Amino acid sequence: TATGMGTELGQIAELINTAGGETTPLQERLDGLANVLVVSALVLVALVVFGGWLLGQPLLGLLEVALSMAVAIVPEGLPAVITVTLAIGTQRMVQRAALIRRLPAVEALGSVTVICTDKTGTLTLNRQVVEELRCGSQSIAVSGQGYNPHGSFTAAELPVPEGAAAGITPGARDLLLSAGVLCSDAELKKAEDGSWDVLGDPTEGALVVAAGKAKLDGFALRSRYERTAEIPFNSERQLMAVWVQDREGTLQAPLGDVAAGSSILAISKGAPEVIIGSCDRWISGSGVSALSDPQKQWWADQARDLAASGLRVLAFACAPHHHSPELELDHLVLLGLMAQLDPARPEVAQAVSRCREAGIRPVMITGDHPLTARAIGQGIGLVDGDAEVVLGRELEQFNDIQLQEAVSRCSVYARVPPEQKLRIVKALQANGQVVAMTGDGVNDAPALKQAHIGVAMGITGTEVSKEASDMVLLDDNFATIVNAVEEGRLVYANIRRFVKYILGSNVGELITIASAPLLGLVGSPLSPLQILWMNLVTDGVPALALALEPGEEGLMQRPPAEPGESIFARGIGSYILRIGVVFAAITIVLMVYAFRSGAPWQTMVFTTLCLAQMGHALAARSDLPLVQVNPFSNPWLIGAVVLTSALQMALLYVPVLSNFFETTPLSLQDLAICVGFSFLFFLYLELEKVWRLWRRRAHADA
Ligand code: ADP
Ligand code: MG
Repeated sequence: TATGMGTELGQIAELINTAGGETTPLQERLDGLANVLVVSALVLVALVVFGGWLLGQPLLGLLEVALSMAVAIVPEGLPAVITVTLAIGTQRMVQRAALIRRLPAVEALGSVTVICTDKTGTLTLNRQVVEELRCGSQSIAVSGQGYNPHGSFTAAELPVPEGAAAGITPGARDLLLSAGVLCSDAELKKAEDGSWDVLGDPTEGALVVAAGKAKLDGFALRSRYERTAEIPFNSERQLMAVWVQDREGTLQAPLGDVAAGSSILAISKGAPEVIIGSCDRWISGSGVSALSDPQKQWWADQARDLAASGLRVLAFACAPHHHSPELELDHLVLLGLMAQLDPARPEVAQAVSRCREAGIRPVMITGDHPLTARAIGQGIGLVDGDAEVVLGRELEQFNDIQLQEAVSRCSVYARVPPEQKLRIVKALQANGQVVAMTGDGVNDAPALKQAHIGVAMGITGTEVSKEASDMVLLDDNFATIVNAVEEGRLVYANIRRFVKYILGSNVGELITIASAPLLGLVGSPLSPLQILWMNLVTDGVPALALALEPGEEGLMQRPPAEPGESIFARGIGSYILRIGVVFAAITIVLMVYAFRSGAPWQTMVFTTLCLAQMGHALAARSDLPLVQVNPFSNPWLIGAVVLTSALQMALLYVPVLSNFFETTPLSLQDLAICVGFSFLFFLYLELEKVWRLWRRRAHADA
């Protein structure tokens, strides 16, 4: 009835476009960094030019200094290093089955505070097996594990509902099983090793397997009773229905008189609440009889019991029709229930507890029954046995404030249609959480787009959901999300590592340059070209190697970074200032000494700054003193230090380069002095680490 953007799909496309892609925490932090840098550059340049002018320095030299300062304060190498670091993160993640589609997601993953996940297939294996049938007043246990369609049934009497005869005829049981086969699309295929595989929806495959265990051949059934119409399953309706031809009435024989003369049988299966609600008769021990309200309640209780033990429950019903399909589904005859076990993935319980340790809250959102959801959630340690479960229709009633309150409290959501996921994400975000959300269906796309990290399923996911996602799970496994979070945290730890390193050196350069005119030295100690060289090469190359640091202790044993935390948080800001001041102090002493002794002071300052950064790179690897770190665990860094030092020497001693960079070839003695001063800086860094460790230990002892 509509085309293009007027269709359901078009509306989803529009929702995807309007659901705002959130800016990631890193983007916000870098924006904050840029603001700080611009403001401090302006203030410092103004101060130095004014101060130098008061001291009677020539204005041209001061402008040269100002220009150098402006270049020095901008970390030109940082964007490139960050981009490469994120790219390296994607490499590591894909090796652990997480495919990143948008680069900033790498670091955002490290900041995730809530992971919202589907149940079926993500937390569980999605290898459903029918365990139990409820039919008439009997409970029939299915033995024969797994997908092998050979097994046996054992039956037990249930307390008989009011006004019904006990027992059930084999005919009624077989009608229930046949209904399962006819009202589904999955097929069984024998693999080469003799085991059986399901093609299609595992929920439906389990039904075909169950019929096989009762010696009902699914293939023969489907060719004998041809399908003439259908309503496919979807998560909103929570049911599927088919109309099949049954001219001789063999299929509906167990229905007795009710079916006499009808040639079409409508069969429907779905969530028990939905199916039982549209039934007014049922097959009891004595054939078809009316379904009274207490009996409806009895059936609902049966479904509850099964769900409470973690099983996924389907109800089955049928209606004989005399003519071609009447596409309406009421006045149905209830055939019974089938309950399926879908085991939790073995690695999921551990992944959930890793989330806990890492201060991340896992949240389950499912279309399944609340009791099934809670039982599974309990099994994997996600919630307690008496945890609150919020239903989709309750969510619908909540206003935004109530919803925000509910999502901060509750970790299991059941009977939730995909549209509600978008509201859940928004409410969590309004509470200040960084949200990862999984989804596989077309209808999940808006929620995936809205979440900070939209996670699509690589195996079962639709193209639309993948398109809207930031990350695709190649194995559909919840544990993979947690692994990706760990990699994301490593990336953030490494970003902090080289931000310290790069900005610490920038501050050092800046103070050195600024001090020159104030100390009465004429001209800028460093030319803009030399500064660019330092920022891009002598800082950039080792920083890249720092991004390859293999790991860090306890990444998953601490809470996620505060969502709003600045890049200077947790000691980085003070580190940068402190290190910058020490760095500058050492360089300034050298500078004044060299200037006084008539040595090529500018080249010596340049060389000392560069060489000192090599020691700084080594020291920045870890909070532990370097002697306690395996030097070869990051061979890249050794390579980077050797390469950069060699390049620096080339800048001094290769005539073309030294002309271009305006350096003077240093005498061996001057070079040795530079090396000595650089080493002083390294020594300071290491001693500071030892002192901090010692202080922390003293603190812990106290
Ligand atoms: P989830 O994938 O989150 O477990 P679904 O939306 O797929 O939830 O299923 C919701 C409910 O719909 C299930 O609990 C079950 O009762 C019913 N259902 C699931 N699959 C089918 C199907 N193929 N045919 C009929 N009903 C189904
Ligand atoms: Mg499903």
